[in-house]
Amino acid sequence: VESTASNFIRSIINEDNRTGKWQGRVETRFPPEPNGYLHIGHAKSICLNFGIAKEFNGVCHLRFDDTNPEKEAQEFVDAICDNVRWLGFDWGEHLHFSSDYFDQLYAFAEYLIAEGKAYIDSQSADEIRERRGTLTTPGEPSPFRDRSVTENMDLFRRMKAGEFAEGAHVLRAKIDMSSPNINMRDPVIYRIRYAHHQRTRDKWCIYPMYDYTHCISDALENITHSLCTLEFEDHRPLYDWVLDQLQEKLPCHPQQIEFARLNLTYTVMSKRKLIELVEQKLVDGWDDPRLSTLAGVRRRGYTPLSIQKFAERIGVSKADSWIDMGVLEDCLREDLNEHAPRRIAVLKPLKLIIDNYPEDQEEDCFAPNHPQKPEWGKRTVPFAKVVYIEQDDFMEEPVKGFFRLKPGGEVRLRYAYIIKFERIEKNAQGEIAAIHCTYDPETKSGTVGATKRKVKGNIHWLAANQAKTVEIRLFDRLFNDPYPDSGDKDYKNALNPNSKMTLHAFVEPTLLAAEPEQCFQFERNGYFIADRIDSHHGKPVFNRAVTLRDSWGK
Ligand code: ATP
Ligand code: MG
Ligand code: MG
Repeated sequence: VESTASNFIRSIINEDNRTGKWQGRVETRFPPEPNGYLHIGHAKSICLNFGIAKEFNGVCHLRFDDTNPEKEAQEFVDAICDNVRWLGFDWGEHLHFSSDYFDQLYAFAEYLIAEGKAYIDSQSADEIRERRGTLTTPGEPSPFRDRSVTENMDLFRRMKAGEFAEGAHVLRAKIDMSSPNINMRDPVIYRIRYAHHQRTRDKWCIYPMYDYTHCISDALENITHSLCTLEFEDHRPLYDWVLDQLQEKLPCHPQQIEFARLNLTYTVMSKRKLIELVEQKLVDGWDDPRLSTLAGVRRRGYTPLSIQKFAERIGVSKADSWIDMGVLEDCLREDLNEHAPRRIAVLKPLKLIIDNYPEDQEEDCFAPNHPQKPEWGKRTVPFAKVVYIEQDDFMEEPVKGFFRLKPGGEVRLRYAYIIKFERIEKNAQGEIAAIHCTYDPETKSGTVGATKRKVKGNIHWLAANQAKTVEIRLFDRLFNDPYPDSGDKDYKNALNPNSKMTLHAFVEPTLLAAEPEQCFQFERNGYFIADRIDSHHGKPVFNRAVTLRDSWGK
Protein backbone atom coordinates (compact mmCIF):
# COMPACT_ATOMS: atom_id res chain seq x y z
CA VAL A 1 0.00 0.00 0.00
CA GLU A 2 1.54 3.28 -1.07
CA SER A 3 1.03 6.07 1.38
CA THR A 4 -0.01 9.41 0.05
CA ALA A 5 -1.67 11.01 3.03
CA SER A 6 0.60 13.07 5.16
CA ASN A 7 0.78 12.77 8.92
CA PHE A 8 2.57 14.53 11.70
CA ILE A 9 5.18 11.79 12.07
CA ARG A 10 6.16 12.09 8.41
CA SER A 11 6.42 15.84 8.94
CA ILE A 12 8.83 15.35 11.85
CA ILE A 13 10.98 12.98 9.81
CA ASN A 14 10.97 15.26 6.79
CA GLU A 15 12.09 18.10 9.01
CA ASP A 16 14.85 15.94 10.58
CA ASN A 17 16.02 15.04 7.10
CA ARG A 18 16.05 18.70 6.12
CA THR A 19 18.14 19.71 9.13
CA GLY A 20 20.32 16.60 8.89
CA LYS A 21 19.58 15.64 12.52
CA TRP A 22 20.10 11.94 11.83
CA GLN A 23 22.10 12.28 8.61
CA GLY A 24 19.03 11.09 6.76
CA ARG A 25 18.84 7.86 8.76
CA VAL A 26 15.42 6.51 9.77
CA GLU A 27 15.33 3.57 12.16
CA THR A 28 12.14 2.52 13.97
CA ARG A 29 11.08 -0.50 15.99
CA PHE A 30 7.97 -2.45 16.85
CA PRO A 31 8.36 -3.51 20.51
CA PRO A 32 5.76 -6.09 21.61
CA GLU A 33 5.86 -7.77 24.96
CA PRO A 34 5.65 -11.53 24.29
CA ASN A 35 2.82 -12.03 26.79
CA GLY A 36 -0.11 -12.56 24.44
CA TYR A 37 -1.28 -12.55 20.86
CA LEU A 38 -1.22 -9.46 18.68
CA HIS A 39 -4.47 -7.76 17.74
CA ILE A 40 -5.61 -5.31 15.12
CA GLY A 41 -4.45 -2.40 17.32
CA HIS A 42 -0.91 -3.76 17.16
CA ALA A 43 -1.30 -3.94 13.39
CA LYS A 44 -1.68 -0.16 13.36
CA SER A 45 1.66 0.16 15.16
CA ILE A 46 3.32 -2.47 12.93
CA CYS A 47 2.13 -0.82 9.72
CA LEU A 48 3.20 2.56 11.03
CA ASN A 49 6.68 1.55 12.17
CA PHE A 50 7.52 -0.71 9.25
CA GLY A 51 5.71 1.57 6.79
CA ILE A 52 7.58 4.70 7.87
CA ALA A 53 10.91 2.88 7.73
CA LYS A 54 10.20 1.59 4.24
CA GLU A 55 9.01 4.94 3.00
CA PHE A 56 12.22 6.65 4.13
CA ASN A 57 14.54 3.81 3.05
CA GLY A 58 15.21 2.97 6.67
CA VAL A 59 14.87 -0.17 8.72
CA CYS A 60 12.43 -1.30 11.35
CA HIS A 61 13.45 -3.62 14.16
CA LEU A 62 11.30 -6.26 15.77
CA ARG A 63 12.15 -6.07 19.44
CA PHE A 64 10.62 -8.23 22.12
CA ASP A 65 10.29 -6.30 25.34
CA ASP A 66 10.78 -9.31 27.56
CA THR A 67 11.35 -7.98 31.06
CA ASN A 68 8.40 -9.68 32.84
CA PRO A 69 9.50 -13.31 32.87
CA GLU A 70 6.40 -14.58 34.69
CA LYS A 71 4.01 -13.63 31.91
CA GLU A 72 6.09 -14.25 28.83
CA ALA A 73 6.58 -17.30 26.68
CA GLN A 74 8.30 -18.52 23.52
CA GLU A 75 4.88 -19.48 22.14
CA PHE A 76 4.03 -15.78 21.95
CA VAL A 77 7.38 -14.86 20.40
CA ASP A 78 6.77 -17.36 17.59
CA ALA A 79 3.19 -16.24 17.02
CA ILE A 80 4.20 -12.56 16.91
CA CYS A 81 6.99 -13.21 14.38
CA ASP A 82 4.50 -15.11 12.29
CA ASN A 83 1.93 -12.29 12.44
CA VAL A 84 4.41 -9.59 11.45
CA ARG A 85 5.70 -11.64 8.54
CA TRP A 86 2.15 -12.43 7.44
CA LEU A 87 1.33 -8.72 7.43
CA GLY A 88 4.06 -8.37 4.84
CA PHE A 89 6.95 -6.94 6.84
CA ASP A 90 10.54 -8.00 7.20
CA TRP A 91 12.87 -7.05 10.05
CA GLY A 92 15.89 -8.47 8.23
CA GLU A 93 18.68 -8.97 10.75
CA HIS A 94 17.01 -6.71 13.30
CA LEU A 95 15.40 -9.23 15.58
CA HIS A 96 16.18 -8.15 19.12
CA PHE A 97 15.23 -8.91 22.70
CA SER A 98 15.47 -6.50 25.59
CA SER A 99 16.90 -9.42 27.55
CA ASP A 100 19.94 -9.32 25.25
CA TYR A 101 20.79 -6.05 27.00
CA PHE A 102 20.49 -7.27 30.58
CA ASP A 103 24.27 -7.09 31.11
CA GLN A 104 24.48 -3.55 29.75
CA LEU A 105 21.37 -2.45 31.61
CA TYR A 106 22.93 -3.75 34.80
CA ALA A 107 26.23 -1.98 34.15
CA PHE A 108 24.38 1.28 33.46
CA ALA A 109 22.50 0.89 36.73
CA GLU A 110 25.79 0.57 38.61
CA TYR A 111 26.97 3.69 36.81
CA LEU A 112 23.85 5.59 37.91
CA ILE A 113 24.49 4.47 41.49
CA ALA A 114 28.12 5.58 41.27
CA GLU A 115 26.98 8.96 39.96
CA GLY A 116 24.55 9.36 42.85
CA LYS A 117 21.62 9.10 40.43
CA ALA A 118 20.08 5.92 41.83
CA TYR A 119 19.60 4.39 45.26
CA ILE A 120 18.36 1.26 46.93
CA ASP A 121 15.04 1.70 48.64
CA SER A 122 14.10 -0.82 51.30
CA GLN A 123 10.53 0.33 51.87
CA SER A 124 7.70 -2.06 51.08
CA ALA A 125 5.79 -1.63 47.84
CA ASP A 126 2.88 -0.12 49.82
CA GLU A 127 5.11 2.37 51.56
CA ILE A 128 6.64 3.40 48.27
CA ARG A 129 3.18 3.89 46.76
CA GLU A 130 1.97 5.92 49.73
CA ARG A 131 4.98 8.22 49.77
CA ARG A 132 4.77 8.76 46.03
CA GLY A 133 1.91 11.23 46.53
CA THR A 134 -0.89 11.98 44.07
CA LEU A 135 -1.63 14.36 41.22
CA THR A 136 -2.50 17.05 43.76
CA THR A 137 -0.05 16.24 46.56
CA PRO A 138 3.74 16.08 46.29
CA GLY A 139 5.67 12.93 47.11
CA GLU A 140 7.80 12.51 50.23
CA PRO A 141 11.35 11.27 50.08
CA SER A 142 12.07 7.73 51.18
CA PRO A 143 14.01 7.41 54.45
CA PHE A 144 16.58 5.47 52.38
CA ARG A 145 17.02 8.19 49.76
CA ASP A 146 20.31 9.45 51.14
CA ARG A 147 22.14 6.16 51.43
CA SER A 148 25.80 6.43 50.48
CA VAL A 149 27.06 5.34 47.09
CA THR A 150 29.06 2.57 48.76
CA GLU A 151 26.05 1.20 50.61
CA ASN A 152 23.85 1.42 47.49
CA MET A 153 26.44 -0.38 45.38
CA ASP A 154 26.89 -3.09 47.97
CA LEU A 155 23.14 -3.68 48.30
CA PHE A 156 22.59 -3.68 44.54
CA ARG A 157 25.32 -6.27 44.00
CA ARG A 158 23.86 -8.42 46.76
CA MET A 159 20.41 -8.08 45.20
CA LYS A 160 21.90 -9.42 42.00
CA ALA A 161 23.65 -12.21 43.90
CA GLY A 162 20.33 -13.41 45.25
CA GLU A 163 20.86 -12.52 48.91
CA PHE A 164 17.44 -10.94 49.43
CA ALA A 165 13.83 -11.95 49.19
CA GLU A 166 11.51 -10.54 46.56
CA GLY A 167 10.32 -7.10 47.61
CA ALA A 168 13.08 -6.57 50.17
CA HIS A 169 14.73 -3.83 48.11
CA VAL A 170 14.32 -2.03 44.80
CA LEU A 171 16.59 0.26 42.86
CA ARG A 172 15.10 3.70 42.21
CA ALA A 173 16.24 6.54 40.02
CA LYS A 174 16.93 9.65 42.11
CA ILE A 175 15.04 12.38 40.30
CA ASP A 176 12.49 14.62 42.00
CA MET A 177 9.92 13.59 44.62
CA SER A 178 8.03 16.84 44.19
CA SER A 179 7.77 16.72 40.40
CA PRO A 180 4.24 17.40 39.14
CA ASN A 181 4.79 14.34 36.92
CA ILE A 182 4.43 11.27 39.12
CA ASN A 183 6.59 9.23 36.74
CA MET A 184 9.51 11.44 37.76
CA ARG A 185 9.11 10.81 41.50
CA ASP A 186 12.02 8.44 41.82
CA PRO A 187 10.68 5.62 39.65
CA VAL A 188 11.66 2.04 40.44
CA ILE A 189 14.11 0.79 37.82
CA TYR A 190 15.00 -2.69 39.15
CA ARG A 191 13.15 -5.21 41.26
CA ILE A 192 13.90 -8.67 42.63
CA ARG A 193 12.12 -11.59 40.95
CA TYR A 194 13.07 -15.20 41.38
CA ALA A 195 11.62 -16.13 38.04
CA HIS A 196 12.86 -18.30 35.23
CA HIS A 197 13.25 -16.26 32.05
CA GLN A 198 12.61 -18.01 28.74
CA ARG A 199 15.88 -16.68 27.30
CA THR A 200 18.23 -15.86 30.16
CA ARG A 201 16.98 -18.81 32.20
CA ASP A 202 18.10 -18.49 35.85
CA LYS A 203 20.94 -16.07 35.31
CA TRP A 204 19.08 -13.15 36.83
CA CYS A 205 17.00 -12.63 39.90
CA ILE A 206 16.70 -8.89 39.37
CA TYR A 207 14.86 -7.51 36.35
CA PRO A 208 14.81 -3.97 34.94
CA MET A 209 11.53 -2.05 34.66
CA TYR A 210 9.94 -1.10 31.36
CA ASP A 211 10.66 2.64 31.48
CA TYR A 212 14.32 2.08 32.19
CA THR A 213 14.73 -0.72 29.67
CA HIS A 214 12.83 0.69 26.76
CA CYS A 215 14.73 3.93 26.21
CA ILE A 216 18.11 2.25 26.65
CA SER A 217 17.18 -0.55 24.24
CA ASP A 218 16.12 2.09 21.71
CA ALA A 219 19.41 3.91 22.08
CA LEU A 220 21.56 0.76 21.93
CA GLU A 221 19.82 -0.19 18.70
CA ASN A 222 20.38 3.26 17.25
CA ILE A 223 16.69 3.93 16.86
CA THR A 224 15.98 7.42 15.54
CA HIS A 225 12.23 7.74 16.06
CA SER A 226 10.62 5.73 18.84
CA LEU A 227 6.89 5.68 18.11
CA CYS A 228 4.55 4.74 20.92
CA THR A 229 0.96 5.23 21.98
CA LEU A 230 -0.30 8.31 23.82
CA GLU A 231 -0.39 6.81 27.29
CA PHE A 232 3.43 7.08 27.26
CA GLU A 233 3.38 10.84 26.77
CA ASP A 234 3.80 11.37 30.52
CA HIS A 235 6.70 8.93 30.51
CA ARG A 236 8.66 10.90 27.92
CA PRO A 237 10.45 13.08 30.53
CA LEU A 238 11.69 9.88 32.18
CA TYR A 239 12.72 8.42 28.80
CA ASP A 240 14.76 11.54 28.20
CA TRP A 241 16.13 11.72 31.75
CA VAL A 242 17.55 8.20 31.63
CA LEU A 243 19.17 8.78 28.25
CA ASP A 244 20.57 12.13 29.38
CA GLN A 245 22.27 10.53 32.39
CA LEU A 246 23.83 7.90 30.15
CA GLN A 247 24.63 10.06 27.17
CA GLU A 248 28.35 9.34 27.30
CA LYS A 249 27.70 5.61 27.23
CA LEU A 250 25.09 5.45 24.49
CA PRO A 251 25.37 5.88 20.72
CA CYS A 252 22.37 8.20 20.39
CA HIS A 253 19.31 9.74 22.00
CA PRO A 254 16.21 8.63 20.07
CA GLN A 255 13.15 10.84 19.92
CA GLN A 256 9.99 9.42 21.49
CA ILE A 257 6.88 10.39 19.50
CA GLU A 258 3.38 9.48 20.67
CA PHE A 259 0.34 8.72 18.52
CA ALA A 260 -3.25 7.77 19.31
CA ARG A 261 -3.98 4.10 19.78
CA LEU A 262 -6.58 2.38 17.66
CA ASN A 263 -9.99 1.94 19.24
CA LEU A 264 -12.31 -0.14 17.11
CA THR A 265 -16.06 -0.48 17.65
CA TYR A 266 -17.76 -3.84 18.28
CA THR A 267 -14.63 -5.44 19.65
CA VAL A 268 -12.34 -5.61 22.66
CA MET A 269 -8.57 -5.41 22.39
CA SER A 270 -7.05 -5.50 25.84
CA LYS A 271 -4.93 -8.58 26.38
CA ARG A 272 -6.69 -9.30 29.66
CA LYS A 273 -10.12 -9.41 28.01
CA LEU A 274 -8.91 -11.43 25.04
CA ILE A 275 -7.43 -13.96 27.45
CA GLU A 276 -10.72 -14.09 29.37
CA LEU A 277 -12.73 -14.74 26.20
CA VAL A 278 -10.42 -17.60 25.27
CA GLU A 279 -10.08 -19.13 28.73
CA GLN A 280 -13.78 -18.98 29.49
CA LYS A 281 -14.41 -20.59 26.09
CA LEU A 282 -16.65 -17.75 24.96
CA VAL A 283 -14.80 -18.06 21.66
CA ASP A 284 -13.05 -21.01 20.00
CA GLY A 285 -9.44 -20.14 20.82
CA TRP A 286 -6.98 -17.36 20.03
CA ASP A 287 -7.58 -17.62 16.33
CA ASP A 288 -11.38 -17.60 16.49
CA PRO A 289 -12.42 -15.75 13.33
CA ARG A 290 -14.61 -13.40 15.38
CA LEU A 291 -11.72 -12.11 17.50
CA SER A 292 -9.70 -8.98 16.81
CA THR A 293 -6.45 -10.95 17.18
CA LEU A 294 -4.36 -11.04 14.02
CA ALA A 295 -4.57 -14.83 14.12
CA GLY A 296 -8.37 -14.43 14.24
CA VAL A 297 -8.79 -11.88 11.49
CA ARG A 298 -6.46 -13.94 9.32
CA ARG A 299 -8.68 -16.99 9.70
CA ARG A 300 -11.71 -14.83 9.14
CA GLY A 301 -10.36 -13.93 5.71
CA TYR A 302 -8.67 -10.58 6.22
CA THR A 303 -5.75 -10.16 3.88
CA PRO A 304 -2.47 -8.41 4.71
CA LEU A 305 -3.26 -5.84 2.04
CA SER A 306 -6.66 -5.03 3.53
CA ILE A 307 -5.06 -4.39 6.91
CA GLN A 308 -2.33 -2.22 5.41
CA LYS A 309 -5.02 -0.28 3.56
CA PHE A 310 -6.92 0.14 6.81
CA ALA A 311 -3.86 1.40 8.70
CA GLU A 312 -3.22 3.91 5.95
CA ARG A 313 -6.84 5.03 5.81
CA ILE A 314 -7.26 5.66 9.53
CA GLY A 315 -3.97 7.57 9.58
CA VAL A 316 -2.15 8.64 12.73
CA SER A 317 -3.06 11.50 14.95
CA LYS A 318 -2.49 12.88 18.41
CA ALA A 319 -6.13 12.58 19.47
CA ASP A 320 -7.84 9.44 20.71
CA SER A 321 -10.91 8.47 18.71
CA TRP A 322 -13.03 5.51 17.74
CA ILE A 323 -12.91 3.90 14.32
CA ASP A 324 -16.04 2.15 13.13
CA MET A 325 -15.69 -1.56 12.38
CA GLY A 326 -17.30 -0.76 9.02
CA VAL A 327 -14.11 1.01 7.93
CA LEU A 328 -12.09 -2.17 8.44
CA GLU A 329 -14.72 -4.24 6.63
CA ASP A 330 -14.74 -1.81 3.71
CA CYS A 331 -10.99 -2.14 3.30
CA LEU A 332 -11.40 -5.90 3.01
CA ARG A 333 -14.25 -5.54 0.50
CA GLU A 334 -12.14 -3.27 -1.65
CA ASP A 335 -9.22 -5.67 -1.66
CA LEU A 336 -11.29 -8.79 -2.33
CA ASN A 337 -13.51 -7.11 -4.87
CA GLU A 338 -10.38 -6.58 -6.88
CA HIS A 339 -8.57 -9.84 -6.18
CA ALA A 340 -11.11 -12.58 -5.49
CA PRO A 341 -12.43 -14.75 -8.33
CA ARG A 342 -16.21 -15.15 -8.53
CA ARG A 343 -17.90 -18.44 -7.82
CA ILE A 344 -21.38 -19.63 -6.95
CA ALA A 345 -22.54 -21.08 -3.66
CA VAL A 346 -26.11 -21.72 -2.58
CA LEU A 347 -26.15 -21.33 1.17
CA LYS A 348 -29.72 -22.32 1.97
CA PRO A 349 -30.94 -24.40 -0.94
CA LEU A 350 -34.45 -24.57 -2.37
CA LYS A 351 -35.13 -27.08 -5.16
CA LEU A 352 -36.42 -25.67 -8.42
CA ILE A 353 -37.71 -27.95 -11.18
CA ILE A 354 -37.99 -26.70 -14.73
CA ASP A 355 -40.95 -28.66 -16.05
CA ASN A 356 -40.42 -28.02 -19.74
CA TYR A 357 -36.68 -28.73 -19.72
CA PRO A 358 -35.79 -32.21 -21.07
CA GLU A 359 -35.00 -34.74 -18.35
CA ASP A 360 -31.50 -35.77 -19.40
CA GLN A 361 -30.42 -32.68 -21.28
CA GLU A 362 -27.28 -30.89 -20.10
CA GLU A 363 -25.84 -27.70 -21.45
CA ASP A 364 -23.11 -25.30 -20.48
CA CYS A 365 -23.57 -21.76 -19.30
CA PHE A 366 -20.63 -19.40 -19.01
CA ALA A 367 -19.86 -17.21 -16.02
CA PRO A 368 -17.08 -14.61 -15.89
CA ASN A 369 -14.43 -15.20 -13.23
CA HIS A 370 -14.40 -11.47 -12.60
CA PRO A 371 -16.92 -9.08 -14.15
CA GLN A 372 -14.40 -6.25 -14.52
CA LYS A 373 -11.52 -8.46 -15.66
CA PRO A 374 -12.34 -10.19 -18.94
CA GLU A 375 -8.74 -11.41 -19.04
CA TRP A 376 -9.55 -13.75 -16.15
CA GLY A 377 -11.81 -15.65 -18.56
CA LYS A 378 -15.04 -17.52 -18.00
CA ARG A 379 -15.84 -20.87 -16.52
CA THR A 380 -18.58 -23.30 -17.47
CA VAL A 381 -21.53 -23.75 -15.16
CA PRO A 382 -23.64 -26.70 -16.30
CA PHE A 383 -27.41 -26.19 -16.46
CA ALA A 384 -30.00 -28.92 -15.82
CA LYS A 385 -33.67 -29.59 -15.23
CA VAL A 386 -33.30 -29.49 -11.43
CA VAL A 387 -31.38 -26.64 -9.86
CA TYR A 388 -30.97 -25.16 -6.38
CA ILE A 389 -31.70 -21.54 -5.66
CA GLU A 390 -31.51 -19.68 -2.34
CA GLN A 391 -34.54 -19.99 -0.08
CA ASP A 392 -34.34 -16.22 0.32
CA ASP A 393 -34.83 -15.72 -3.41
CA PHE A 394 -38.39 -17.03 -3.26
CA MET A 395 -41.34 -15.62 -1.32
CA GLU A 396 -44.68 -17.34 -1.31
CA GLU A 397 -46.29 -14.18 0.00
CA PRO A 398 -44.00 -11.51 -1.35
CA VAL A 399 -43.57 -8.20 0.41
CA LYS A 400 -43.87 -5.02 -1.62
CA GLY A 401 -40.81 -4.39 -3.76
CA PHE A 402 -39.71 -8.06 -3.81
CA PHE A 403 -38.38 -8.62 -7.33
CA ARG A 404 -37.04 -12.11 -7.04
CA LEU A 405 -39.10 -15.28 -7.62
CA LYS A 406 -42.73 -15.17 -6.46
CA PRO A 407 -46.02 -16.81 -7.45
CA GLY A 408 -46.95 -15.58 -10.91
CA GLY A 409 -43.52 -13.98 -11.38
CA GLU A 410 -40.57 -14.28 -13.69
CA VAL A 411 -36.90 -14.07 -12.93
CA ARG A 412 -33.60 -14.64 -14.72
CA LEU A 413 -31.40 -17.53 -13.63
CA ARG A 414 -28.12 -15.72 -13.99
CA TYR A 415 -26.01 -16.85 -17.02
CA ALA A 416 -28.94 -19.07 -18.12
CA TYR A 417 -32.62 -18.47 -18.88
CA ILE A 418 -35.65 -16.50 -17.82
CA ILE A 419 -37.97 -18.78 -15.90
CA LYS A 420 -41.62 -18.40 -15.00
CA PHE A 421 -43.25 -19.58 -11.77
CA GLU A 422 -45.75 -22.42 -12.18
CA ARG A 423 -46.54 -23.94 -8.80
CA ILE A 424 -45.29 -24.87 -5.34
CA GLU A 425 -44.84 -28.49 -4.39
CA LYS A 426 -45.32 -29.11 -0.67
CA ASN A 427 -44.46 -32.14 1.42
CA ALA A 428 -46.73 -33.96 3.90
CA GLN A 429 -45.81 -31.43 6.62
CA GLY A 430 -46.95 -28.57 4.41
CA GLU A 431 -43.40 -27.29 3.88
CA ILE A 432 -42.16 -26.21 0.48
CA ALA A 433 -40.41 -29.18 -1.14
CA ALA A 434 -39.78 -27.64 -4.56
CA ILE A 435 -40.84 -24.87 -6.90
CA HIS A 436 -41.97 -25.76 -10.39
CA CYS A 437 -41.20 -23.37 -13.23
CA THR A 438 -41.00 -23.27 -16.99
CA TYR A 439 -38.16 -21.71 -18.94
CA ASP A 440 -38.16 -19.63 -22.09
CA PRO A 441 -35.62 -21.28 -24.46
CA GLU A 442 -35.25 -18.04 -26.43
CA THR A 443 -33.71 -16.10 -23.53
CA LYS A 444 -30.32 -17.71 -22.89
CA SER A 445 -27.72 -15.26 -21.59
CA GLY A 446 -25.21 -14.29 -24.24
CA THR A 447 -27.69 -14.85 -27.12
CA VAL A 448 -29.63 -12.25 -29.08
CA GLY A 449 -32.84 -13.48 -27.45
CA ALA A 450 -31.56 -12.51 -24.01
CA THR A 451 -31.67 -8.84 -24.90
CA LYS A 452 -35.28 -8.94 -26.09
CA ARG A 453 -36.90 -9.48 -22.72
CA LYS A 454 -36.13 -7.80 -19.43
CA VAL A 455 -36.98 -9.04 -15.95
CA LYS A 456 -36.06 -7.36 -12.69
CA GLY A 457 -34.78 -10.30 -10.67
CA ASN A 458 -31.50 -12.03 -11.47
CA ILE A 459 -30.70 -14.89 -9.12
CA HIS A 460 -27.92 -17.46 -8.82
CA TRP A 461 -28.37 -21.22 -8.91
CA LEU A 462 -26.51 -24.52 -9.15
CA ALA A 463 -27.51 -27.65 -11.04
CA ALA A 464 -28.55 -30.28 -8.50
CA ASN A 465 -26.60 -33.05 -10.20
CA GLN A 466 -23.40 -30.96 -10.09
CA ALA A 467 -23.49 -29.14 -6.77
CA LYS A 468 -21.12 -30.32 -4.03
CA THR A 469 -21.73 -30.00 -0.32
CA VAL A 470 -19.30 -28.08 1.88
CA GLU A 471 -19.33 -26.65 5.37
CA ILE A 472 -19.69 -22.89 5.45
CA ARG A 473 -19.53 -20.62 8.48
CA LEU A 474 -21.22 -17.28 8.58
CA PHE A 475 -19.86 -14.89 11.15
CA ASP A 476 -21.29 -11.77 12.58
CA ARG A 477 -19.78 -9.26 14.95
CA LEU A 478 -18.83 -10.76 18.30
CA PHE A 479 -20.55 -7.96 20.22
CA ASN A 480 -23.90 -6.24 19.81
CA ASP A 481 -22.66 -3.07 21.42
CA PRO A 482 -20.30 -0.70 19.55
CA TYR A 483 -18.49 0.04 22.83
CA PRO A 484 -18.65 -3.30 24.66
CA ASP A 485 -16.09 -2.35 27.32
CA SER A 486 -16.64 1.36 27.78
CA GLY A 487 -17.34 2.82 31.19
CA ASP A 488 -18.05 0.18 33.81
CA LYS A 489 -19.88 -2.15 31.42
CA ASP A 490 -19.09 -5.86 31.49
CA TYR A 491 -18.25 -6.61 27.87
CA LYS A 492 -19.40 -10.19 28.38
CA ASN A 493 -22.99 -8.95 28.58
CA ALA A 494 -22.69 -7.55 25.07
CA LEU A 495 -21.79 -10.83 23.36
CA ASN A 496 -23.84 -11.40 20.21
CA PRO A 497 -25.46 -14.85 20.58
CA ASN A 498 -25.74 -15.17 16.80
CA SER A 499 -22.17 -14.38 15.91
CA LYS A 500 -21.49 -17.80 14.39
CA MET A 501 -23.68 -19.98 12.19
CA THR A 502 -22.57 -23.21 10.51
CA LEU A 503 -24.27 -24.38 7.30
CA HIS A 504 -23.96 -27.18 4.84
CA ALA A 505 -24.16 -25.44 1.54
CA PHE A 506 -23.81 -26.25 -2.15
CA VAL A 507 -20.92 -25.00 -4.26
CA GLU A 508 -19.53 -25.37 -7.76
CA PRO A 509 -17.54 -28.63 -8.05
CA THR A 510 -14.18 -26.90 -8.68
CA LEU A 511 -14.37 -25.31 -5.23
CA LEU A 512 -13.59 -28.70 -3.68
CA ALA A 513 -10.04 -28.10 -4.86
CA ALA A 514 -9.74 -24.75 -3.05
CA GLU A 515 -6.44 -24.40 -1.22
CA PRO A 516 -6.41 -23.21 2.40
CA GLU A 517 -6.58 -19.39 2.48
CA GLN A 518 -7.86 -19.05 -1.09
CA CYS A 519 -10.47 -16.29 -1.25
CA PHE A 520 -13.56 -16.08 -3.43
CA GLN A 521 -16.55 -13.95 -3.93
CA PHE A 522 -19.58 -16.22 -3.75
CA GLU A 523 -21.89 -14.20 -5.95
CA ARG A 524 -24.46 -12.23 -4.00
CA ASN A 525 -23.41 -13.95 -0.73
CA GLY A 526 -20.17 -12.23 0.15
CA TYR A 527 -16.45 -12.91 0.31
CA PHE A 528 -15.28 -16.27 1.60
CA ILE A 529 -11.97 -17.88 2.47
CA ALA A 530 -11.06 -21.54 2.73
CA ASP A 531 -10.30 -21.96 6.43
CA ARG A 532 -6.57 -22.47 6.94
CA ILE A 533 -6.99 -24.90 9.82
CA ASP A 534 -10.13 -26.92 9.15
CA SER A 535 -9.86 -27.37 5.37
CA HIS A 536 -8.54 -30.69 4.16
CA HIS A 537 -7.48 -31.80 0.73
CA GLY A 538 -10.60 -31.99 -1.43
CA LYS A 539 -12.73 -30.97 1.56
CA PRO A 540 -12.54 -27.24 2.15
CA VAL A 541 -14.44 -25.41 4.86
CA PHE A 542 -15.32 -21.82 4.02
CA ASN A 543 -15.57 -18.82 6.32
CA ARG A 544 -17.49 -15.76 5.29
CA ALA A 545 -15.02 -12.93 5.75
CA VAL A 546 -17.46 -10.14 4.97
CA THR A 547 -20.75 -9.57 3.20
CA LEU A 548 -20.86 -7.71 -0.12
CA ARG A 549 -22.40 -4.63 1.41
CA ASP A 550 -22.48 -3.20 4.86
CA SER A 551 -25.88 -4.36 6.06
CA TRP A 552 -25.09 -4.55 9.74
CA GLY A 553 -27.97 -3.47 11.94
CA LYS A 554 -30.30 -3.11 8.94
P1 ATP B 1 -2.09 -4.45 26.36
O1 ATP B 1 -2.18 -3.08 26.98
O2 ATP B 1 -3.36 -4.99 25.83
O3 ATP B 1 -1.34 -5.41 27.23
P2 ATP B 1 0.20 -3.49 25.03
O4 ATP B 1 -0.01 -2.22 24.35
O5 ATP B 1 0.84 -3.40 26.36
O6 ATP B 1 -1.17 -4.25 25.07
P3 ATP B 1 2.54 -4.42 23.74
O7 ATP B 1 2.94 -5.79 23.38
O8 ATP B 1 3.34 -3.70 24.76
O9 ATP B 1 1.01 -4.52 24.18
O10 ATP B 1 2.39 -3.53 22.44
C1 ATP B 1 3.39 -3.41 21.46
C2 ATP B 1 3.22 -2.13 20.72
O11 ATP B 1 1.94 -2.05 20.11
C3 ATP B 1 3.34 -0.94 21.65
O12 ATP B 1 4.24 -0.02 21.07
C4 ATP B 1 1.96 -0.39 21.71
O13 ATP B 1 1.98 0.99 21.84
C5 ATP B 1 1.34 -0.82 20.38
N1 ATP B 1 -0.12 -0.95 20.51
C6 ATP B 1 -0.77 -1.75 21.37
N2 ATP B 1 -2.10 -1.58 21.27
C7 ATP B 1 -2.30 -0.64 20.31
C8 ATP B 1 -3.45 -0.02 19.73
N3 ATP B 1 -4.69 -0.31 20.14
N4 ATP B 1 -3.26 0.90 18.75
C9 ATP B 1 -2.02 1.20 18.34
N5 ATP B 1 -0.90 0.65 18.84
C10 ATP B 1 -1.02 -0.26 19.81
MG1 MG C 1 3.03 -2.87 26.66
MG1 MG D 1 0.27 -3.17 28.36
